[in-house]
Amino acid sequence: MKKRKIKKYGNFKLFKLKVFAVILAVLLWFVYLHLDMNENINVEIENVSALKISSDLVLEINNFSEKYGIQFSELFTYYSLENNFFENKVEADDKIEQNFIMNYDKIKSKYNFNEVKKYYDLINNICNDIKLFPIDSKYAKEYIYGDSWGGERTYGGKRIHKGCDIMDRENIRGRIPVVSMTDGKIHNIGWNEQGGYRIGVISENGNYYYYAHFDKYEKGIKEGKSVKVGDVLGYMGDSGYGKEEGTKGKFPVHLHIGICPNSELSDEELWINPYPFLRLVEKIDDDTETE
Ligand SMILES: [Zn+2]
Repeated sequence: MKKRKIKKYGNFKLFKLKVFAVILAVLLWFVYLHLDMNENINVEIENVSALKISSDLVLEINNFSEKYGIQFSELFTYYSLENNFFENKVEADDKIEQNFIMNYDKIKSKYNFNEVKKYYDLINNICNDIKLFPIDSKYAKEYIYGDSWGGERTYGGKRIHKGCDIMDRENIRGRIPVVSMTDGKIHNIGWNEQGGYRIGVISENGNYYYYAHFDKYEKGIKEGKSVKVGDVLGYMGDSGYGKEEGTKGKFPVHLHIGICPNSELSDEELWINPYPFLRLVEKIDDDTETE
């Protein structure tokens, strides 16, 4: 009797060992797959914010998107990851190499989609929101702008410029209408020490679009009001840089655009460079192209 019991017990132990070995093998296999197949994405939020992608490249990605029928946001996301835009400050070629497109599926499979999804959502939600340049194309010869992200600002303490400035070439306040780039709701309006007369619009995707330094608002524009793409919000000006409401003339007439996306990438307030998105929606002739 005793011997049998021992034998039974021994079989059970062996069985448990086998089960354990199988589970361990499966676990190791998963670990191996993830180590081997997926690129480790190490995010530096500051680089995501700055979107160091030249405007020529943005337009080129857009051309490839149309030519090959790959969604722009997806192409933009993988191209950015593949060229370390989000990780290191590596400057990539201004041309998308043919082999990036040819090896596109292979490149996609390198990344874990759940990790990529955060960038993709960020880019895609903004692209889906912004349908129009904030100034009508008939004023195309009246304004000028470039990538002004990251410039140094000193008013209210040393800080970097987290937006894009569109300047009035003539520097005359109140003459150029500013339109909403997106559908959404006016979240805040009124005086702000740095932004002067400003408007914040929140889109259905939850992204925040900030327009600052208005000379005056359009009639009927008030907090809580829904706006549509192309609705006039107000007129370009030079208000701001003063505690006192109505301070004007502290800098040249311009529109400041800021974008604060509703993103899972960062727990802190994340501003993102509007410049590439502005270039994408700016439909102007080549001869009036800005610098
Ligand atoms: Zn600005």
